[in-house]
Amino acid sequence: MSTLKPGVVSGEDYKTLLTAAREGAFAFPAVNVVGTNSINAVLEAAAQAKADVIIQLSNGGAHFYAGKGLPDGGRAKVLGAVSAAQHVHLLAEHYGVCVVLHTDHANKKLIPWVEALIGHGETYFERNGKPLFSSHMLDLSAEPIDFNLGESARILERAVKIGMSIEIELGVTGGEEDGVGQDVDTSADNSHLYTQPADVLQAWKKLSPIGHFSTAASFGNVHGVYKPGNVKLRPEILKNSQILVAETCGTGPNPLDLVFHGGSGSDESKIKEAVEYGVFKMNIDTDTQFAFSKPVGAYVNENSAAFTHQLDPETGKPYKKQYDPRAWLRKGEQGLVERLQRAFEVLGSTGRSLAMD
Ligand SMILES: [Zn+2]
Repeated sequence: MSTLKPGVVSGEDYKTLLTAAREGAFAFPAVNVVGTNSINAVLEAAAQAKADVIIQLSNGGAHFYAGKGLPDGGRAKVLGAVSAAQHVHLLAEHYGVCVVLHTDHANKKLIPWVEALIGHGETYFERNGKPLFSSHMLDLSAEPIDFNLGESARILERAVKIGMSIEIELGVTGGEEDGVGQDVDTSADNSHLYTQPADVLQAWKKLSPIGHFSTAASFGNVHGVYKPGNVKLRPEILKNSQILVAETCGTGPNPLDLVFHGGSGSDESKIKEAVEYGVFKMNIDTDTQFAFSKPVGAYVNENSAAFTHQLDPETGKPYKKQYDPRAWLRKGEQGLVERLQRAFEVLGSTGRSLAMD
């Protein structure tokens, strides 16, 4: 088994991680983060599980990381992502695991965000010999496929020069996420919710000669968690794309590195099936948000007086220990750490870290 140095991985090391996942039939959770609390909790969870992990920021998460008070939202989305990436570069190796740094959905309007981040990546590469992010996602699935693949090719050409990968999206993931979600009609014959293998083949032919890319494919997945029965996952769609590319282009089995968006709330057997068909990355946001917030809510309920008074109104006893933000933020971190243990288990990545000092 190959091993890697702990810390942020990109380029050939990223491909080594993907090969290990393909050969070992496991996948990595890609956890959306919004601040140091969620980043540190993901690192702690990965260290505890002895698993490698993907940390990612949406443009909204990056804005929040920089601070909602920064007046220029466009600039905040860039600076927040850069700041978060630097935080992870500094700390990840000390947790003893490999970390892939990613950004989430960027639609047509957000192409300048991705390009600004690649610009920061180029500067970082000049100084450190590696990029800031391992990969960026471009989600041009709402545009005609020629535009989607043309822009993806243009960005990938620039990214490969600094050892970066990109993630593209083909087909529509239903649900809401940073305003790019779609209204969901989950009737099973709704073909636009399912990625067409012919589109995947077209993407492979255009992008694989340029460099490494991964593909978010739709197989009935939706963003967010809805009432049971609303989601009809059909992972066999992924298998059909893999077979078409492998047979047409004469590659080995499962040539495509596939990404599962909207993994929160999904049936665990369907997740395992998707991993067998080449899913290496499962995005998780909604479930980890709830896992962070639930114990904070319980703590506030149990200590409600400490959230309205600095001193106990009857005894005069100080509540400082209870309202100290570290007390309740830590509860949130622990909730996230615990939830991720289950994600690593379901994806088969517990104990599979390639990191070795
Ligand atoms: Zn998504």
